[in-house]
Amino acid sequence: GAPYFSVNSSGNVAVRPHGSATMDHQEIDLLKVVNKASGGLHLPLPLIIRFPDVLKNRLESIQSAFNSAVESQGYGSNYQGVYPVKCNQDRFVVEDIVKFGSSFRFGLEAGSKSELLLAMSCLCKGSSESLLICNGFKDAEYISIALIARKLSLNTVIVLEQEEELDSVIVISRKLGVLPVVGVRAKLRTKHSGHFGSTSGEKGKFGLTTTQILRVVKKLEKYGMLDCLQLLHFHIGSQIPSTVLLADGVREAAQIYTELVRLGASMKVIDIGGGLGIDYDGSKSTDSDLSVGYTLEEYASAVVQAVKHVCDNKSVKHPVICSESGRAIVSHHSVLVFEAVSSSRYSVPSLSSFDVQQLGETLPEEAHSDYHNLLQSTFVGDREACLAYADRLKQRCVDQFKDGALDIEQLANVDGLCDLVAKTSDPVTTYHINLSVFTSIPDFWGIGQLFPIMPIHRLDQRPNANGVLSDLTCDSDGKINRFIGGESSLPLHEMGGENVMKYYLGMFLGGAYEEALGGVHNLFGAPSVIRVSQSDGPHGFAVTRAVPGPSCSDVLRAVNHEPQVMFQTLKDRIEEYIGDDDEGGVMASGIVESFHNMPYLTVGSSCCLTVANEY
Ligand code: PLP
Repeated sequence: GAPYFSVNSSGNVAVRPHGSATMDHQEIDLLKVVNKASGGLHLPLPLIIRFPDVLKNRLESIQSAFNSAVESQGYGSNYQGVYPVKCNQDRFVVEDIVKFGSSFRFGLEAGSKSELLLAMSCLCKGSSESLLICNGFKDAEYISIALIARKLSLNTVIVLEQEEELDSVIVISRKLGVLPVVGVRAKLRTKHSGHFGSTSGEKGKFGLTTTQILRVVKKLEKYGMLDCLQLLHFHIGSQIPSTVLLADGVREAAQIYTELVRLGASMKVIDIGGGLGIDYDGSKSTDSDLSVGYTLEEYASAVVQAVKHVCDNKSVKHPVICSESGRAIVSHHSVLVFEAVSSSRYSVPSLSSFDVQQLGETLPEEAHSDYHNLLQSTFVGDREACLAYADRLKQRCVDQFKDGALDIEQLANVDGLCDLVAKTSDPVTTYHINLSVFTSIPDFWGIGQLFPIMPIHRLDQRPNANGVLSDLTCDSDGKINRFIGGESSLPLHEMGGENVMKYYLGMFLGGAYEEALGGVHNLFGAPSVIRVSQSDGPHGFAVTRAVPGPSCSDVLRAVNHEPQVMFQTLKDRIEEYIGDDDEGGVMASGIVESFHNMPYLTVGSSCCLTVANEY
């Protein structure tokens, strides 16, 4: 997360929203933010902490990288980016991007009708020259809205994702009496090999082939609308690993761009899509989806150089360069903080304390050799052999049990011994976290993506346990057991003890896609959210917005239940079975309160239903 995160002298994660710590811009102590949210503001965890200053810094850094490349290479036009709202559609994130990017005409990209409506209304507050790129599959309604946006003086470009969209654009624009600005999305041959490259290449899901592009040109010409074709778009995939691949794609697209100029289109913009990657694991490696082998400056320079080279060779005027970076703009701006509520620590008893002798005597003949081999390998410390013999012993005893040759106590003794062996050989502690992986880190579950996760405090103390994280859902996939660096556990501190009440962990770099993709498995809703800016106050920060996560009622409503009706049903039942006296009244208000509360665990506080037990 460089340059935004570090560890301060108190051993807490410190945030530098402006990318550096100076007299004007001091670090923010993340633990103080969490204490303020959960203490003063009574916001339940899990918590997403947004830093709008990080968004501002990301936008400015990308713009400045392109500005430098344009200037140093003598490029004859400029860079004008758009933010693809699908990466994080939160109103305040999008509004911040429009506000911070307004001075350099930063625009938005939409991929559906709802995203288009969102982008249109947000851009009304920005610069009228900012681009509004309409991607995605389109029906007549989508195209009509996009054309109305042009009438509203928004700089809208309808990018043809399928050839058939052109017919609707021609018919509807005539009906509405508006001249459309059209782009085509090219299906490039350049393909990136990582997970995110599967949408690219000749067989990719999106875009027009060269044959289709030529048919679009012909049709526009036929209708006297070739002037409307002004933009060429492509997207190789997210997390483009290297500038070599990037330049290859841009070169191919720039050739198509110059060909469109030759065919008479009024080309103005080359839109290189998203794909500007970020470094999740710090490796700067081009071999995995978790990192990229370039800086922002190298990325911008490779793009400008490739476009310039092709255009100069063909004597074509340099186009405006647009990019649709999402991951690179929003990933760093938020931190997900969640609490470990307990850990299944076991004090590992030594094998000698187990009644080994007695157990051996009770086992049937057939299990003796595995049993003795297991003990032998345990005493010599051969972990692999230990686990293998334990497995075999267990399987043999289960078979014996099925045949009726072993009683349930003997089987339980064998299970106990094998568990002990497993724990002694692989002492990993499970930390139970007040979080849903499906809601908050869906890419970990869905595509195995890793994010940096670490305690946000106690970083001046050596962690003394190896932990995996197990979430609240009733689902065996709801656990995090793979971490950055290829590790199968995370160095964590022991929980509890006299000096520690709470143990907070942070997941970093999850500002893109995770909120948008998360679901309501087990009806856990989104986390609470606060927005934090730097200020001159005593702690160096101010909370500019604080919103608790969805309540049980909210998430129930999302799946078509009606909390009011549900409550009435339960209230009637209380009256029938308990009565409408004090006890019934307390039960009913307890249930009302639960409808209002978030579905996550409320750690360390009593609820009004427990009071009811006193009746
Ligand atoms: N533009 C298009 C058309 C996309 O499909 C995507 C995402 O895959 C993006 C932009 C954003 O990509 P990224 O988040 O890698 O910048």
